[in-house]
Amino acid sequence: MRRLLVLGATGSIGTTALKALREGLMPDCQLVGLVGHSNVKAVEMLAEEFSCPFFINSDGAPLQDFIESVSPDITLNGIAGHDGLPASLATLSAGSVLALANKESVVMGGSFLFDEARRLGRRIIPVDSEHSAIYHLVQDHQDVEHLVITASGGPFLDRKDLDSVTPDEAANHPTWKMGRKISIDSSTLANKGLEVIEAGFLFNMPADRIEVTIHRQSIVHSMIRLSNGAVYAQLSPPDMTLPIVAAVNDGHAALHDVVRPLSFKDLALTFQDWDRQQFPLLALAYQVLEKKEGWPIAYNAADEVAVAAFCQGRIRYTQIAGLVGRVLDADWSGTAHSLEEVLAVDRAARKEAERCLASL
Ligand code: NDP
Ligand code: MG
Repeated sequence: MRRLLVLGATGSIGTTALKALREGLMPDCQLVGLVGHSNVKAVEMLAEEFSCPFFINSDGAPLQDFIESVSPDITLNGIAGHDGLPASLATLSAGSVLALANKESVVMGGSFLFDEARRLGRRIIPVDSEHSAIYHLVQDHQDVEHLVITASGGPFLDRKDLDSVTPDEAANHPTWKMGRKISIDSSTLANKGLEVIEAGFLFNMPADRIEVTIHRQSIVHSMIRLSNGAVYAQLSPPDMTLPIVAAVNDGHAALHDVVRPLSFKDLALTFQDWDRQQFPLLALAYQVLEKKEGWPIAYNAADEVAVAAFCQGRIRYTQIAGLVGRVLDADWSGTAHSLEEVLAVDRAARKEAERCLASL
């Protein structure tokens, strides 16, 4: 049996993973630990159900010691937000393969995260559905010229007046059921922005070789465009069970019936361009990936502060993009070579975002 640890066990990714375990979709995995944060009761109940130890990750607590004590072969990181990066690094240091849903780890950690993985001889397997699709597609094809990432377009693709949008409306995703932050990011396409940056680092692709297309049905999870002109795509229903199970399985067993088979009866797939004016946060992400250095860290931090401020009623929905843009006007040059340096840029960007917020 392979030993599985789940970080962010109470969240949307964690819940889907544990449901897949209960349903026998990962038969060669044994759950050896759970990590939670604020919802202590829920983690305790899960630990009892699965008869495994748990850990509450709070400031200063030694997460790496816990990971080492349960000695996982594979760790699913489903933590939301910037706290995911230290957890990813602790996972790699503890000697585990990393099945990574926490896209912030890649956006903030950038080359440093992958250098660390190489230095420690550990693999990182993407769980984000678009990146999972590409990860599996590129294993079978050489000469990939472009990555084509699909975006649902979120709930406001055809809505003009966005001034009065509430957090609940923004979090109401048309095709996926996910945590609150990523759902709101999907409505502004900041999530797609984070994913473009994520793809840049994961697959070592420059910004001008990553395309985004709006595909409202969320059936095509991403595509690769080869230099010979062919395009290959991965299709399945919008259900995170498949990318989670595929990453955790890591090629160890043949997978059967993970998601319901796709029916082509009445299946209409559409694709359309996205508009830079309508989705400035995606346009900014391209600039951020071109510049790299501290810019991806600042983009992520500014967006986290902006979305939190929107949820708290401090700014309107339409002010989120402007706030992120203002933070990115500052100078974020300089490459971070350690977790401490990454976190220092993250803190500085949050401070700058708070300063911009106060002056709005
Ligand atoms: P949720 O908000 O649903 O869940 C977040 C989880 O992270 C909770 O279990 C929460 O614990 C835990 N958590 C938060 N802070 C910490 C911390 N400091 N230490 C340990 N655990 C912590 O988020 P999602 O599941 O939607 O998303 C998780 C990650 O996966 C994000 O990075 C997201 O972008 C990515 N992702 C999610 C997808 C989805 O379908 N949901 C799809 C693709 C990527 P508690 O509740 O106890 O506070
Ligand atoms: Mg995604």
